[in-house]
Amino acid sequence: AYNFCAGPAALPEPVLQQAREEMLDWCGTGMSVMEMSHRSDEFVQIAETAEQDFRDLAGISDDYAVLFMQGGASSQFATIPLNLLPEGGSADYVNTGIWSKKAIAEAQRYGQVNVVASAEDSGFTDIPEPSAWRTSPDAAYLHYTPNETIGGLEFDFVPDSGTVPLVADMSSTILSRPVDFSRFGLVYAGAQKNIGPSGLVVVAIRKDLLGKARGLTPTMMNYQVIAENGSMYNTPATYSWYLAGLVFKWLKAQGGVEAMAEVNRRKADKLYGFIDANDFYANPIAPRFRSWMNVPFTLADDALNAEFLKGADARGLLNLKGHRSVGGMRASIYNAMPEAGVDALIDYMSEFAKERG
Ligand code: PLP
Repeated sequence: AYNFCAGPAALPEPVLQQAREEMLDWCGTGMSVMEMSHRSDEFVQIAETAEQDFRDLAGISDDYAVLFMQGGASSQFATIPLNLLPEGGSADYVNTGIWSKKAIAEAQRYGQVNVVASAEDSGFTDIPEPSAWRTSPDAAYLHYTPNETIGGLEFDFVPDSGTVPLVADMSSTILSRPVDFSRFGLVYAGAQKNIGPSGLVVVAIRKDLLGKARGLTPTMMNYQVIAENGSMYNTPATYSWYLAGLVFKWLKAQGGVEAMAEVNRRKADKLYGFIDANDFYANPIAPRFRSWMNVPFTLADDALNAEFLKGADARGLLNLKGHRSVGGMRASIYNAMPEAGVDALIDYMSEFAKERG
């Protein structure tokens, strides 16, 4: 079966196999990783190796703290302003879709948010030219969502935020291609797409941005506290951290993010190419900003949606139903989706269009 779920998403098969093999007895310890003290030498080694592999893959220098936090990406929507938006200050946000909006709504609870650009006018199919963004040099930070998982709208550039720290929700694009992380003040990613199990959220924050949290910030949300304690101020999500580490090793074995980028680009080009060439299917996003990770598409007749999904399920092409807010279909093709999965999807779409088109 090929699982096209947007998240929690498919994990690489070899990672699941290894986790199964190690489930009852990790490296001769007679224990599952799930049962180990987070302070044990064994777990500390697992945790440190995972962090280093993540740094190696992403190219994140020692100028940044890498944190393995909990509460998913959504908890970061509040954690970020609590840490970076001073009382009386303002933050700039770019609105490109549903996840940007959630980040904006949460930040508004803590201070002034300026929506400096919005894709709303285009129905979230196009990203406004940066020259038209109304950014402020006094903003505490500039937040954007490089890939909108639901809409399938993805930046093909990193915005220039000048001296203002750039903050990015990389939940659905992290480790899918090379990115110059030195351009960012803070990036965060819910793990359940390209990293591992849901609930875990990986944060990379430039160290000079630590220590600015407001007084009322919950301790568990204070980046400095989490950084000073090696993400072990409380009991971390140990098993998820371990699984993330297995995914990082797998990614390295695939050739890292450069190799992933090649495959991901090819997978996306194939699928969009097929959709564009076939009158029966459509994707509304401006070609330049089409997501490599999440490919929403509609059928010529919505009345055929249920039948399309049923036929897909029967072939082991799973979870293609679009998000309830947009309808249609969505194929999420993260790192763990092999090219053969995209080929199988295209074969099915082609047959379905011939029969019902
Ligand atoms: N941001 C983006 C871009 C997402 O795709 C998601 C989840 O799909 C989230 C945030 C929320 O993540 P979580 O469910 O881990 O809070």
